[in-house]
Amino acid sequence: MEFLRRLRATSLLTRFACLSLLLTVAVGVVLSSVLGGLIEDRARQQAEDAALMAVRLGLQPQFTREDLVGGFDAARLADVEDAVEDASEEFGKKGTALAAFDPIELKVFGADRTILYHSERPELVGETSSSGELGSALAGYVVSGFASSADDSAESENGERQLLEVYVPLQYDGVDQPDGAIELYLPYAPVAAAVRDDVRTMTTTLVISLLGFYVIVFRLIASASKRMRRQARELQDSADRDRHQATHDALTGLPNRVLMEDRLQQSLAAATRSDGEVALLLIDLDRFKEINDSLGHSYGDKLLLQVGPRLRSVLRDMDAVGRLGGDEFVVLLPSVDGVTEAEAVAERLRQALHQPFDVDGVVLDVEASIGIVLSPWHGTDSEELLRNADIAMYAAKELKAGAVVFQPEVHASTPVRLSVLGDLRRALDSDDELFLHYQPKITLDGEQIEGLEALLRWQHPTQGLIPPGEFILVAEGTGIILRVTERVLDLALAQQRRWIDAGTAVPVAVNLSTRCLLDAGLPDLVQRLLTQHGVPAELLRLEVTESAVMGDAARCMDVLQRLHDLGVHLSLDDFGTGYSSMAYLRRLPVDELKVDRSFVLGMTTTTQDLVLVRTAIDLGHNLGLTVVAEGVESAEHVAALRELGCDVAQGYHYGRPMPAERMTEMLARVGTIHDEQVPAGS
Ligand code: C2E
Ligand code: MG
Ligand code: MG
Repeated sequence: MEFLRRLRATSLLTRFACLSLLLTVAVGVVLSSVLGGLIEDRARQQAEDAALMAVRLGLQPQFTREDLVGGFDAARLADVEDAVEDASEEFGKKGTALAAFDPIELKVFGADRTILYHSERPELVGETSSSGELGSALAGYVVSGFASSADDSAESENGERQLLEVYVPLQYDGVDQPDGAIELYLPYAPVAAAVRDDVRTMTTTLVISLLGFYVIVFRLIASASKRMRRQARELQDSADRDRHQATHDALTGLPNRVLMEDRLQQSLAAATRSDGEVALLLIDLDRFKEINDSLGHSYGDKLLLQVGPRLRSVLRDMDAVGRLGGDEFVVLLPSVDGVTEAEAVAERLRQALHQPFDVDGVVLDVEASIGIVLSPWHGTDSEELLRNADIAMYAAKELKAGAVVFQPEVHASTPVRLSVLGDLRRALDSDDELFLHYQPKITLDGEQIEGLEALLRWQHPTQGLIPPGEFILVAEGTGIILRVTERVLDLALAQQRRWIDAGTAVPVAVNLSTRCLLDAGLPDLVQRLLTQHGVPAELLRLEVTESAVMGDAARCMDVLQRLHDLGVHLSLDDFGTGYSSMAYLRRLPVDELKVDRSFVLGMTTTTQDLVLVRTAIDLGHNLGLTVVAEGVESAEHVAALRELGCDVAQGYHYGRPMPAERMTEMLARVGTIHDEQVPAGS
C-alpha cells in the first residue's frame, strides 16, 4: 500500500517504468514456470521411452513365455543376468539416444505378480507384489513415476527425487494380455541435470529477451513522454506569454489598463471588507509630446522605460504601478490612510520624476500632473474612479497644480469638458467608438464627385452619437487632438486605399485643428501614414480653418509649407469667418477655398451674404484657387452659385455625411471626375 501510495506521487514515466517492470517480471515468472514444467515432462517422457525401448528391444527377447510362467532356473538366471548386462551396455552407452538407460535395479514379474527376478535382492524372488503400478503394467500400460530410491533409502542430500521407476509390460505376439512385467529403476540425476541445463538456457534466453523488450519499450515511451512534456511546456510557455502580453504594456512591461483595473477591483473588494480606503493616482507627464517631437520617438520610449522604476522607487511593495498608454501612468495604493497620505505619496512621486532623466546622454527634466481619487469617497468601482482620476488629473494640468485631489463639488460643475476628455481618451483606446462619415463635394458644371470630406463621428457607449462640435473644441485645448487627428488620418487613408483598390481614386479631405498646425511633427506623421497605406499624396486634402491659420500664421506657415511640399492639397475651411488679409492669403500654400456655410445658407435671402459669397469666389479665383461652397441645401443655392461661377458645392442638397459603404454606392452611381486617372495600387 505504502509502495502504491508513493508510486502515485511519482511522475507518469516512473509509474509506467515500475508497473511495466512488474508486469514483465510476472510474465517472465509465469513463462519460465510453464516452460520449465514442459521441459521436465518432456525429459521424463524421453527417459520412459528409453526404458520402453530397452525393455522391448534388449530384454523382452531374452525371456520366453515359459520363463514368465514357471520362473527362472539357475542356468536361465545366469543368461538373464548376462542379457541385462548386455542390454544396459548396449543401450546405456554415453552419447547415445538412450544414454539414460543405466538401470540401478531391475525386477521381472510374472502375470500373477510373483517376483521372478530381482537384480539386487535375489532373496525376494518368489514373493508377490501388490503395487498398483504393477497392476496397470499387467493390464498393458507403461507406467512411470518418481521414487526416492530403489531401496527407499538413497534420497539425495537436498531431498531431490533421484530415481525414475518404470513398469513395462512384457507382451508376446498373438497374446492379448501381458505375460509379465519388468520394473526398472533408472537414475534420474542425468535427466534432472539435462532438465536444469535446458531450464537454465530457457530462463537466460527469456530474461535477456524480456529485458531487451523492456528496455526498448521503455526507451520508446521515455522519448515519447519527453517529447510530450516538451510540447506541453511550450504550450504552457506560449499561454503564459499570451497572458502576459494581454495584461502588460509591451514597451515598459508594466501592468496595462486591463490588469490595473483588475487589481483595483480586487483592492476595492478587500477594502470594502476591511472598511479601508483605496487610492488611485493618475500620472500624466507634462510636455512629453515635445520630447517625442524634438528628440524622436526612441528617446520618448527610453524615457518612458525609466519612469516606471522611478515611480516604483518611492512606493511600498504592496502598491502597484501600471501604464495606461502614451505618457499616462497609474499608481494603485491598495491601503491608504486618508487623503493626506495619498497626497504625500503623490508629492513623493512628483519629486522622484523631477530628478533629471539621462536618456542616452541627453538630460531631460520631466514634470508630471497627478489626479488623485480615493474610494469610497470618489467612487466605488474602477470605472468611476478612473474617470474621476482623469478629471482631477486634467484639472491639475490646467491649473498647473502638480497633484489635485478630485473634488466632486468643484469638478462636478465643469464635468462636461473634463469628462469628455476622459471619455475621449478611452474612445481612442477602443477600436469602434470613433469612425468617419464621408460627404461628397460635387462639381457645379458636371455634377460629378470632385472629392469627399471625412467627418469624425463618436458613438459614445452611454451618451450615444456625439457631434464633433461638442468634443473637437474641447480636445483642441489639450494634446489629445493630436491623437484624434492621427486616428482620423489613419481611418481615412485606410478607407481611401479600399476605394483605390476597388478602382476609384477619389481625393479625401481631413480636417486639421489649429493645435495640429503648431505641431512640427505633423508632416512626418502624414508622410508615414501615406506610405503605410500606399495612398498618393495628391489624393489627400487637409482642411485648415481660416481662424486657425490667422491665429499664429508664422508658425503655421512652416508646417503648411512642408505639408504642401509632400504633394498634399490644402484647403482653407470656413472662409469668411476669420479676418484673413489679402497679403497672407496670397502667401499661404493653399489650393482650395471653402466658403463658410453660414454665408452660403443666407445668400438666397440676404444680399449681404450674397455679396460676401461673390467676393469670396472672385477672390479665390483671382488667387488661382478652386472655390467650394459649403452648406448647399437647395436647388436655389445651386443655381445661385452656378451663376457666380463657383466650382464645387458641398451640402445636404447633394448628400449628407454618410458611412463609407453608402459612399461607395454613391461613388458608383454618380461617378467622379477622377475616374480616368486611377493610380496603380501600391
Ligand atoms: P466643417 O469642416 O466645416 O465640416 C462641415 C460641417 O458642415 C459638417 O458638420 C457637415 O455635416 C456640415 N454640413 C455639411 N453640409 C451641410 C448643409 O448643407 N447644411 C448644414 N447646416 N450643415 C452642413 P459636422 O460633421 O458636424 O462637423 C462640424 C465640424 O467639426 C467640421 O466643420 C469640422 O470643423 C469639425 N470636424 C469634423 N471632423 C473633424 C475632424 O476629423 N478633425 C477636426 N479637427 N475637426 C473635425
Ligand atoms: Mg472641413
Ligand atoms: Mg467648413
